[in-house]
Amino acid sequence: MSASAPITQDVHTIPRKLPEGPLNLVGLTRDAMRAALIDAGVPEKQAKMRVGQIWQWIYQWGVRDFDVMTNLAKGLRTELSERFVIEVPEVVSKQVSDDGTRKYLVRIAGGHEVEVVYIPEEGRGTLCVSSQVGCTLTCSFCHTGTQKLVRNLTAAEIIGQVMMARDDLDEWPEIGAPKDETRLLSNIVLMGMGEPLYNFENVRDAMKIAMDPEGIQLSRRRITLSTSGVVPEIARTAEEIGCQLAISFHATTDEVRDRLVPINKRWNIDVLLEALRSYPKVSNSERITFEYVMLHGVNDSDEDARRLIKLIDGIPAKINLIPFNEWPGAPYKRSSNNRIRAFADIIYKAGYASPIRTPRGEDIMAACGQLKSATERARKSRRQIEAEAGLAGR
Ligand code: SAH
Ligand code: SF4
Repeated sequence: MSASAPITQDVHTIPRKLPEGPLNLVGLTRDAMRAALIDAGVPEKQAKMRVGQIWQWIYQWGVRDFDVMTNLAKGLRTELSERFVIEVPEVVSKQVSDDGTRKYLVRIAGGHEVEVVYIPEEGRGTLCVSSQVGCTLTCSFCHTGTQKLVRNLTAAEIIGQVMMARDDLDEWPEIGAPKDETRLLSNIVLMGMGEPLYNFENVRDAMKIAMDPEGIQLSRRRITLSTSGVVPEIARTAEEIGCQLAISFHATTDEVRDRLVPINKRWNIDVLLEALRSYPKVSNSERITFEYVMLHGVNDSDEDARRLIKLIDGIPAKINLIPFNEWPGAPYKRSSNNRIRAFADIIYKAGYASPIRTPRGEDIMAACGQLKSATERARKSRRQIEAEAGLAGR
């Protein structure tokens, strides 16, 4: 990594409403929606009830047209349609992999694009959601990390990805239908583009909407936030979101982690593990997922596996081994299947679940770490990437 490259981003600069024109109701917290309705002339005494009604239309039934909201008086519906919109990001293209994985390219305000991936599995389906356009961090094995941060997504753009996917899966229930128990979109992982904990408030507000019992109704156990290790925000994630946590761990010494996940220079392995120890208790979650990308000859030795076990001792954990997904110009190779299995075995014998993540949607570049918006696909040269990874001359 070059000395001048930013490794942190502490500002939340994105306006929470559209810069001009009518206000988008999508993504507002209940309190913010209430304030917006009062501002629009809804009597204060009624505002809470109206929020509940509109909320259900938008998030339970997937309605985008105020005219369909038949429990609101016609005059109010007209008033609302003049002042507000219900908007989700626009799908620019959709690719479907041989394995059924769907990758959407969606356009957001400002002409930016992000990728969203739907992964169908037996009896469930996971949506991999993006939180930023690009990323400020520069993990050397990650394709998104070669793209500069363009901006944080708003809460509307984050929850809008879920709504867009439900549109595409044709999964909104019939109005008035009883709660649907089986879902095509049953899980959310914040593992798309960006570092969710550098966009904390917007991610939190969007996930609160996803979990709201009068809306999309996903249990907090079905939402997993993956972070590269933004330590100051980890306790807040437990307290204010309470979802499952995944950590992009990837190395067992600071020397290697500094190279793979440069945020380690700011918060190293010891500091990170300390922050993780209280997470399960505070968030009432069962265990933390440690993500570990398998890079040939870099972090995949038996010794690494044994060090990993020692490091996480005392933390309720599961280790998710991710075979490295290659991308054009990537400075690493995937570990062999035998190496991955041997590594997994050591961890498993120490008493931890150690699933090996099956790469999904590789043929459409939808697998972990391959996401990068087409408009920003101007690639760095291989030499530049290697230099940043500290691999030059190896
Ligand atoms: N920024 C967050 C979430 C997005 S990345 C984070 O870093 O945790 C989601 C996961 O994919 C992370 O564990 C990341 O380290 C991993 N990943 C990134 N690039 C990858 C690649 N090329 N192959 C396999 N996994 C990768
Ligand atoms: Fe950003 Fe995560 Fe990729 Fe690192 S792995 S560059 S934090 S998206």
